[in-house]
Amino acid sequence: MKRSALKTKTADKYKCKNRCGNKAEYYAGTTPVCSSDCAYSYLMKKAAAKKKKDDIAYRADTRKMAVDIRTRTKWYKMLEAVVNAHVLLIDHGKMCFTCDSAHAGSTFQAGHFLTVGHSKPTRFNLYNIHKQCARCNQFGGGMPKIYKVNLRARYGQDVVDSLEGPQASLKDQYPTTQDIESEIKVYQSKNLELNKWLGLK
Ligand SMILES: [Zn+2]
Ligand SMILES: [Zn+2]
Repeated sequence: MKRSALKTKTADKYKCKNRCGNKAEYYAGTTPVCSSDCAYSYLMKKAAAKKKKDDIAYRADTRKMAVDIRTRTKWYKMLEAVVNAHVLLIDHGKMCFTCDSAHAGSTFQAGHFLTVGHSKPTRFNLYNIHKQCARCNQFGGGMPKIYKVNLRARYGQDVVDSLEGPQASLKDQYPTTQDIESEIKVYQSKNLELNKWLGLK
């Protein structure tokens, strides 16, 4: 004999929600059930189903987030390539920003004042990127002290302050991947123009 609560008048219109086949005897909360055993097992099943649903939603969310991050990383890499190419084009003919020379056989790179690791938001800021020789950029760690002096000399203290000041995150600068994509297209056409203008391609 199952331990049951007192019969509730209207509950017996229903079958036990736990699908045991019995008539409901009373309500557990708003659920018509035949017994406290069925009430308990019904609640357990319901909780398990909800947890399963939440887990699936959670997994889908994290998967989507991972895809978003991967996608953004890929787009940023592509943007970086065209921005860096652009820097080498606008600084074409100039010497290294920090040592003002071209070492024998030196290769030039797009060197950041605030490194990408140090400041992601200025990763694509043209004031933050200049043509630099590999010796300064790679082996001199970017020569930040002289870089700063030269930035100040060329653009003024305001530009240095604004680079070092608070920045909108990349996510704010490019809310959607389409924004990154259109920025890439802008740079691609600028680079095409510059290449022609400089007679390089
Ligand atoms: Zn039941
Ligand atoms: Zn240099």
